[in-house]
Amino acid sequence: MSDALRDRHYDIVIAGGGMIGTSLALALAPLGLRVAVVEAIARKADAQPSFDDRSTALSRSTQRMFEAMGLWDEIVAASTPIRSIHVSDQGRFGFSHIDAEEQGVEGLGYVVINRVLGGVLQSAMTGIPGVDVICPARIVALELAPDEARASIETGNNMCRTLHCNLLVAADGSNSEVREMMGITVQQSHYGQRAVIGNLLPEKKLEHRAFERFTPQGPLALLPVADERAAFVWTVSEQDAERVMALDDDAFLTELQEQFGYRLGAFSRVGKRASYPLMLSKALRLTAARSVLVGNAAHGLHPVSAQGFNLGMRDVAALCDCIADARDDTQSLDPGARELLQRYTEWRRSDQKKLVRFTDGLVRLFGSPRRPLRTLRNFGMLGFDLIPGVRSMFAKHTMGLAGRLPRLSRGVPLE
Ligand SMILES: Cc1cc2nc3c(=O)[nH]c(=O)nc-3n(C[C@H](O)[C@H](O)[C@H](O)COP(=O)(O)OP(=O)(O)OC[C@H]3O[C@@H](n4cnc5c(N)ncnc54)[C@H](O)[C@@H]3O)c2cc1C
Repeated sequence: MSDALRDRHYDIVIAGGGMIGTSLALALAPLGLRVAVVEAIARKADAQPSFDDRSTALSRSTQRMFEAMGLWDEIVAASTPIRSIHVSDQGRFGFSHIDAEEQGVEGLGYVVINRVLGGVLQSAMTGIPGVDVICPARIVALELAPDEARASIETGNNMCRTLHCNLLVAADGSNSEVREMMGITVQQSHYGQRAVIGNLLPEKKLEHRAFERFTPQGPLALLPVADERAAFVWTVSEQDAERVMALDDDAFLTELQEQFGYRLGAFSRVGKRASYPLMLSKALRLTAARSVLVGNAAHGLHPVSAQGFNLGMRDVAALCDCIADARDDTQSLDPGARELLQRYTEWRRSDQKKLVRFTDGLVRLFGSPRRPLRTLRNFGMLGFDLIPGVRSMFAKHTMGLAGRLPRLSRGVPLE
């Protein structure tokens, strides 16, 4: 770390330079604040855990945010649009279908590989005036005083420094250590499942269709990506995950095909696989003195509805709105003021709660072999298609357009 960084006071220190922390730093740029992003993992290829081989379905509200931030052209060039979603339940006839045209939009979402998105975000970070990226470094202790937050950071060469700031933002993911340092309790429940991810080549083209198939083990999603490949997210039970990961490519494809069926013809050429434990986590509070949670540090969702990152981006948009509004009202901006943080909590709680309930409900409704739930599920699939409003509600959540939206989520730039 250069000497210039040692004694600086920041308006905002962001703990975690993953998908959400980096997006927040970029979104804040027009406000001209002094910002530091502290990221634990060095930016070497393959090392960054947030920008890895997963694919992320970006919702419409996230698209609008990146448009407002001037980054969308680059992101869309590396993304694949989803024009329809096909939802089915293994062992049951029929399916449900959500269509972009029917919803009056061009795409329900866009699929981008995290590593590619990371490349765009990280190169946009270079040269933003007032933003320091301190990496590799981790926050190891936190002191939250009424007038400022003090974050002790340890850098790669075991040097310790203290950063002073008006607001400390925890964007350090589901197992957030900073959240613990803030004294915020988290409710976590494990689904007893792992998501196995990778990509494959289906015989038939996806043609911008995404597929969500509910199986007794858990949901299986196929998303359209570049080169006519499909990115899969296959939920398997915790006990079976090791065996599934150890299968050779042919055996793996045979099992995946059994779960998905032949709607897209035969599967071939599976790429590198990785697996992730799945849990639901909810922070019991979103703020402490001079500090706030965003992204997975605040809420961790099952990937069934592809909404974790999108929900985190709405945290980013709301926090930016609260900060921009405070700047409008007063001459001297304090981004860690208590009223500002209160406003953020009030705004974000309902969206987060609704999406946690919706996502968890989907997992439990479609994942359970219990008879009453199966009956409800039959009705659910029917209701999905027949009850007016249900399908469009699902589509609205998928697009991130439910509830009151902050400026950036509506595509309105901050300046
Ligand atoms: C299989 C799978 C598929 C998914 N698909 C989708 C999808 O299609 N759409 C969607 O919206 N969401 C999806 N998600 C969810 C999405 O990936 C997460 O919500 C998102 O990555 C959260 O980003 P984050 O920046 O909050 O946390 P993370 O990605 O966990 O990043 C946290 C960062 O903080 C750093 N860090 C940790 N501790 C410290 C410390 N003490 N000091 C400094 N830095 C620290 C880490 O190195 C990391 O870079 C999926 C998740 C999974 C598992």
